Amino acid sequence: MKFTVAELEREAVDFDESLVPGTIDFVDDMRQLDVVHTAGRADLLKEHRGPGEIVPDIRVRAALQTRMEVPCARCLEPVEQAIDTSFDLIFRPIGVDGEGADRSITTSETEIGYYEGDGLLLEDVLREQVLLALPAKTLCSEDCKGLCVECGRNRNTDPCDCAHAPADPRWSSLETIRSRVKP
Ligand SMILES: [Zn+2]
Ligand SMILES: [Zn+2]
Repeated sequence: MKFTVAELEREAVDFDESLVPGTIDFVDDMRQLDVVHTAGRADLLKEHRGPGEIVPDIRVRAALQTRMEVPCARCLEPVEQAIDTSFDLIFRPIGVDGEGADRSITTSETEIGYYEGDGLLLEDVLREQVLLALPAKTLCSEDCKGLCVECGRNRNTDPCDCAHAPADPRWSSLETIRSRVKP
């Protein structure tokens, strides 16, 4: 679904969409388990920047629900994540802010994005919002033992004989930091 400036010039667009898996392109290691349901409104905000200079910003406010499957950060087993979020975003025409305006959305400026050409694809907005809603690191359980660094087996379900194998260095450094910060 595309919101075009020409269409929004006439009137705001209310939408209520259920996007089946496959409509939005997610990276290979995650899977969409349910429809992405979204309902909200897109409208045009005319930013007056000076005499005769009006920037047509597209504002999208909506709620979003879906279920995703992402790999556990330690053992790589798929973990289901329910997403239920809402957003209120403003998209400017790409290039309007001068050099470097096409930078991706940074954490300090999450509310501003950019659109290219004559409008904005709802699918692109939803993809980004789903990714933002997912935790930075997903674990199947807090005490997931991860994969054995020696033989690669899943130590939660398939205990191996590599009893004296050193802990995964990636995690041991983290453990060290944790033990330092703990009171
Ligand atoms: Zn795990
Ligand atoms: Zn092992």
